[in-house]
Amino acid sequence: MIVNSSNIRQLGDRLQGQLFQPEAEGYDDARKVFNAMIDRRPALIVRCADVTDVIAAVHFARETELPIAVRGGGHSVVGSAVCDEGLVIDLSGMKDVSVDPDKRTARAEGGTTWGDFDRATQRYGLATTGGIVPSTGIGGLTLGGGIGRLNRKYGLACDNLLSADVVTADGTLVTASADENEDLFWGLRGGGGNFGIVTSFEYQLHPVGPVLGGEIIFPLDQARTALRFYRDWSTDAPDELRADATLASTPDGPGLAIEVCYCGAIDAGEKVLLPLRKLGSPMLDTIDCVPYETVQNLLTDIFPPGMHHYWKSSFVREFSDDAIDTIVDFFTAAVPPPLAVITFEHLGGVIGRIGEQDTAFSHRQAQHSLLVLRTWQDPEKSEANIAWGRQCYGIAEPFLESGVYVNYLGDEGEARVRAAYGANYERLVALKNKYDPANVFRFHQNIKPA
Ligand SMILES: Cc1cc2nc3c(=O)[nH]c(=O)nc-3n(C[C@H](O)[C@H](O)[C@H](O)COP(=O)(O)OP(=O)(O)OC[C@H]3O[C@@H](n4cnc5c(N)ncnc54)[C@H](O)[C@@H]3O)c2cc1C
Repeated sequence: MIVNSSNIRQLGDRLQGQLFQPEAEGYDDARKVFNAMIDRRPALIVRCADVTDVIAAVHFARETELPIAVRGGGHSVVGSAVCDEGLVIDLSGMKDVSVDPDKRTARAEGGTTWGDFDRATQRYGLATTGGIVPSTGIGGLTLGGGIGRLNRKYGLACDNLLSADVVTADGTLVTASADENEDLFWGLRGGGGNFGIVTSFEYQLHPVGPVLGGEIIFPLDQARTALRFYRDWSTDAPDELRADATLASTPDGPGLAIEVCYCGAIDAGEKVLLPLRKLGSPMLDTIDCVPYETVQNLLTDIFPPGMHHYWKSSFVREFSDDAIDTIVDFFTAAVPPPLAVITFEHLGGVIGRIGEQDTAFSHRQAQHSLLVLRTWQDPEKSEANIAWGRQCYGIAEPFLESGVYVNYLGDEGEARVRAAYGANYERLVALKNKYDPANVFRFHQNIKPA
């Protein structure tokens, strides 16, 4: 069946939510995603109000052979939330979060952002591992693994997933959990958006907050020493601490920022942080005892929507003095303007105590990941900024693993997609054969059916 005005009208009549077509009011806003590099024109956008809308949209797309893109928070750097000439199933109208404080669980709809989620759960003093920028969607982040400030104490976001309601490629609503559709549940925890549309996620929560959080910034001439200290201190740290180290141009000048979140007892955390706070002569120290949501908002202003983004990342294999010197030398030789950063993210802890095959996310042994990130406003600067990002990553690459976190992966070709799913790739292909043999869900770092 081809798409025509009559069947589009019928679809519109069935929906509780909204339908956007090209030229209609709201269409241009509805097709925008977080990364301004992405400019795609879908044939239709269905902003779903509930599960029945999701099912209706999947059936319509299958009948009309329109490709489907699924939008959660719209943060994917490759822009997989939108596609040209296809149907976007937009979950941003589905953001209900309900918390059970006795069981310490939360159920959140597929379009919820981490800002919505933290707000709802922190009312009860609870939280789970989630993204470090509040506008990021729980959907893409959890399905790819989900690193965040609590990841060393409580594991990845996907490690806290208890169950998911999923609309599969044939439009059926199923539940996946440790007791039901266990194979699908395994694949949803790291296999990305390849297996279906998750209309609601149920998470385990934990008592969190207040925390010790904030950042210390060292001037660039102390970056080498501070980064060596960071490597040793963060590697030996208790699970309660997550600390990221970032070479960046800050409003106070270029330097190394170490951002911390300690989610355990405050007096114990003060002792853990003392060696950092006694180090060198920092330009700034904002670490304090604050609500968890305050720390979760530290980067909100730094990442507004509508900027151009280039990201390239991998896990750190060799965090040697040589690696530190090479990376600091590169950054110091030609300090880039804001916002160009090289960040070491702190992994390990509980993440590494879960087996590589227990969930689809397999990169469990890394202690740190490295992310080269450049954002800018002026499209004329795209070529130069991407070139800087590539050059920077090339300098760091000899010290990195071949594996990559799927949610930080750009449009980097088939081999890198395989590297992202790592040791679990073949099992994921088998799961794809079972749940989506026609590859209906193919825009998010695709696992192709055999
Ligand atoms: C500013 C910024 C900060 C970030 N911070 C972090 C971080 O702290 N930790 C981290 O791990 N990652 C982080 N990321 C990366 C992030 O995990 C990915 O960009 C992820 O895809 C975001 O999810 P989303 O729902 O917002 O994305 P979208 O672009 O909406 O979705 C990406 C893909 O995920 C799938 N998807 C999304 N929702 C659903 C759903 N409900 N059901 C089925 N499939 C779905 C779809 O295939 C979709 O194409 C960040 C990204 C940005 C831009």
